[in-house]
Amino acid sequence: MAKIVCVLYDDPIGGMPDSYPRDDLPTVTCYPGGTTLPTPRELDFTPGELLGCVSGELGLRRFLEREGHTLVVTSDKDGPDSEFEQHLADADVVISQPFWPAYLTAERIAKAPNLKLALTAGIGSDHVDLAAAIARNITVAEVTYCNSISVAEHVVMMILSLVRNYLPSHDWVRKGGWNIADCVARSYDVEGMHVGTVAAGRIGAAVLRRLKPFDVHLHYFDRHRLPEAVEKELSVTWHDSVEAMVGVCDVVTINCPLHPETENLFDHEMIGRMKRGAYLVNTARGKIVDRDAVVAALETGQLAGYAGDVWFPQPAPRDHPWRSMPHEGMTPHISGTSLSAQARYAAGVREVLECFLAGTPIRDEYLIVQGGGLAGTGAHSYSPGDATAGSAEAARFTAA
Ligand code: NDP
Repeated sequence: MAKIVCVLYDDPIGGMPDSYPRDDLPTVTCYPGGTTLPTPRELDFTPGELLGCVSGELGLRRFLEREGHTLVVTSDKDGPDSEFEQHLADADVVISQPFWPAYLTAERIAKAPNLKLALTAGIGSDHVDLAAAIARNITVAEVTYCNSISVAEHVVMMILSLVRNYLPSHDWVRKGGWNIADCVARSYDVEGMHVGTVAAGRIGAAVLRRLKPFDVHLHYFDRHRLPEAVEKELSVTWHDSVEAMVGVCDVVTINCPLHPETENLFDHEMIGRMKRGAYLVNTARGKIVDRDAVVAALETGQLAGYAGDVWFPQPAPRDHPWRSMPHEGMTPHISGTSLSAQARYAAGVREVLECFLAGTPIRDEYLIVQGGGLAGTGAHSYSPGDATAGSAEAARFTAA
C-alpha cells in the first residue's frame, strides 16, 4: 500500500464556499490539436468546485482510502519542521502544485528513500530537482495541457490591462475619483503593436491565436519552429534568438518552462535590448527573469509595465519588491488554477495515480522524467538540471 503526500494551497480565509457563482462548467471535449482531456476510470468530485486547496484534496481521498492507501494533505510545506518534510520519510508519492510548490530539492529527495513518483497537479516541474530525480530513478509527471488555455487567457488579459492602463484606472474609481487624464496618460491601443512570445508551445501558440484578431504583428522564438502552415495562418515571424526578437517587440510574453537554459534569461542585458517602454508579461516562472532587473527597468522607464503571476520563491515574502514596484499588474500564482483548470488537473492527477498504483504506463505526454532520464514532454521541453536553488526562502512568507 502506498503513502501519498499531497501539498495544496490553503482554503479560503472564510472556509470552503457554500455555493459557487455558476452552476456548471462549459463542456470542453478535447484540447486544441485533438489531445484528449484526462481519462480517469472514475471521478469522486464535482467539477466546478474548489479542488486545489487543502479541503478540496483534489477529490482523491475516497478513491485512495477505498484501495487501502494513505493520503496526507497539507499546506505546511516550507522549512525543516514542516509537515511536508516530516512525511517525506515514508512517502511513496508526492503531489505538489506550481501555485504553492513543495520544493523537492536534492536534500529533500535524500530524506525520502521510498519516493517513486513526484506528480505535479498542473504544469511545470521546475520545483523538483530534476537532476536528483534522474539520479534516484524517480518518475516526475505533470498534467500536460490541463491549464495551458487558462494561462493563455490570463496572458491576453494582462497584456490588455498593462497597455490600456486598466488597473490604475480602476483604482481611481475605487478612490472616488474621475481622473481621466491621470488614467490615460499611460494608456495605449494594442492594435498595430509588435507582440512576441518566448516559446510557442501549448501556451505560447494559444496566446498567438488569441491575439491575432487584435490586428497586432506577431513574433516568436522557439527552439523548434511551428509548422509552416501555422506560421502562415497566424502571419507570425520566427526569430532565431530571444535577443533578436525582443528588439522589435512592444510587448513580450514569456511562455517557456524554467530549466537551466531559461533561468535568468531576462537579466539586465536582455531587458536592455528591449524597446524603451516595452511591456513584459511573465506567467511562466519567476526565475526566468532577474527580480531586481525588472524593478530597475520599471523605475527608469525601460519597461512601461510588467505583469505576471509567477514569483520566486512561492509564496513570495511580504517584502518581495514586485509587490510594490511601479507599473506592475501582478497576481499571486492563479492563472492555471481557475475552477475550470482545477477540474482538469484533478482528473489528470487521478488518471496518473490510477496508472501508477496499477503498474500500467503513464501517458507519454505527462512524463517529464522516467527511467533515469528525461522522458515524454520533459525530453522535448526541459534540460536535465536543477532550478530549485534558493527555494528555502519561501519559509519567510507570513500569511496576510
Ligand atoms: P509546452 O511544453 O507545450 O511548451 C513549452 C515550450 O517552451 C516548448 O515549445 C519548448 O520548446 C519551449 N522551450 C523550452 N526551452 C526553451 C528555451 N530555452 N527557449 C525557448 N523556448 C523553450 O508547455 P506549456 O506551453 O503548456 O507551458 C509552458 C510553461 O508555462 C510551463 O513549463 C510552466 O512553467 C508555465 N505554466 C504556468 C502556469 C501558471 O499557472 N502560471 C500553468 C501552466 C504552465 P521545444 O519543446 O520546441 O524545444
